[in-house]
Amino acid sequence: SGKWARAMAILREFEERCGTPIGKLRQVADAMTVEMHAGLASEGGSKLKMLISYVDNLPTGDEKGLFYALDLGGTNFRVLRVLLGGKEQRVVKQEFEEVSIPPHLMTGTSDALFGFIADELAKFVATEGEGLHVSPGRQRELGFTFSFPVKQTSLASGNLIKWTKGFSIEDAVGQDVVGELTKAMERINLDMRVAALVNDTVGTLAGGKYYNEDVIAAVILGTGTNAAYVERAHAIPKWHGLLPKSGEMVINMEWGNFRSSHLPITEYDQSLDVDSLNPGEQIFEKIISGMYLGEIVRRVLLKMAEEAAFFGDTVPPKLEVPFILRTPHMSAMHHDTSSDLRVVASKLKDILEISNTSLKMRKVIVELCDIVATRGARLSAAGVFGIIKKMGRDTVRDGEKQKTVIALDGGLFEHYTKFSSCMESTLKELLGDDISENIVIEHSNDGSGIGAALLAASHSQYL
Ligand code: ADP
Ligand code: MG
Repeated sequence: SGKWARAMAILREFEERCGTPIGKLRQVADAMTVEMHAGLASEGGSKLKMLISYVDNLPTGDEKGLFYALDLGGTNFRVLRVLLGGKEQRVVKQEFEEVSIPPHLMTGTSDALFGFIADELAKFVATEGEGLHVSPGRQRELGFTFSFPVKQTSLASGNLIKWTKGFSIEDAVGQDVVGELTKAMERINLDMRVAALVNDTVGTLAGGKYYNEDVIAAVILGTGTNAAYVERAHAIPKWHGLLPKSGEMVINMEWGNFRSSHLPITEYDQSLDVDSLNPGEQIFEKIISGMYLGEIVRRVLLKMAEEAAFFGDTVPPKLEVPFILRTPHMSAMHHDTSSDLRVVASKLKDILEISNTSLKMRKVIVELCDIVATRGARLSAAGVFGIIKKMGRDTVRDGEKQKTVIALDGGLFEHYTKFSSCMESTLKELLGDDISENIVIEHSNDGSGIGAALLAASHSQYL
């Protein structure tokens, strides 16, 4: 019928605008390296903040003792306790707890958020068991993973630049987040010192390096997205401090804020951005990360419902609710291998209250998920390729076969298999057969918590 043709026209036009042919990906990667240079050259020189992490040494394996880590950065936060045993014993024991953040705290006050976190941390500290105590007279020490853009002033202090990923707590912007956490801990007499403040990318890089020496960069694909890598200190013109002994500095790129005219942006992305808590910001993040992929799918389906009666004469009311279709739902539909696509049918029914869909319609929905996920995965690969180029590891130097490992973490990468496999194959495509033999993506399972604890250990006040 005419309606079906109209719906297909909407889908095909969307598909065309989401296109990521290899030439376009190369342009995106090149734009990424150009912005990396610009962000390193001067403060505010680029959309890419290229933040200095103050981490100039990554873990060696010698770290010893009991340390805590706290990871705040999205839908959940985690508290972690690790006993480090040095070179031989490594991680002797680790325990963690995951707590979901009540949504009202994401847009409330700084005191309320940090008060909640300190309370949960205190509860966790109270469960310290046999053999998992700090030595008598010692203060507990914590690595704080905070995955929002922070302008660090030292390894253990830094001011919040802005919120992302659905957080919006006005009175915290510009504040030292370590100060905020410390005040909240003092209010409840929790005696703990923040020894390191790190972005999750930096934590993942540190955790990755601890297990594999060849790790040189880390990428997060979770609720949001970001990347960090090891830069040569003298290649950071905006750094006016002393050159670190190691000659290196970990850079937190804040790549979620990357944008380029080469990015394939559609009308749906534009309206999602306009309606977001942070319009005009985090454009790369809004087309590739877990918070947004399902929402993009919803917006295209809504258009098909409104303009082509895709779901019948009335628009299903639930389809009009922003963010109702989450990326895990999308992923479940995309991975549906049943011949009658019954997972798709059940998600449509349970989440959107749409029943009686034909197999033909369900196939269209799977295709739509594929278009959105493929664009995100291929652009993520282009971003990684940009970092590899910036580091000069995209060519074989003097026939030397140096291994390069990129640590990847985040719920999107971990659980959305079609996304991660597309990303990995696209990176191979960009690198070519020869080079791709030496460059691997490694999943780092919660490397950021361990990484933060390791950095707390190497910056302990008792060393
Ligand atoms: P955060 O980024 O909030 O620190 P995670 O790294 O655990 O936390 O990532 C959580 C995000 O991962 C979710 O917001 C969601 O977008 C995505 N995600 C989780 N599970 C799945 C899944 N099964 N399929 C696709 N995406 C998922
Ligand atoms: Mg995280």
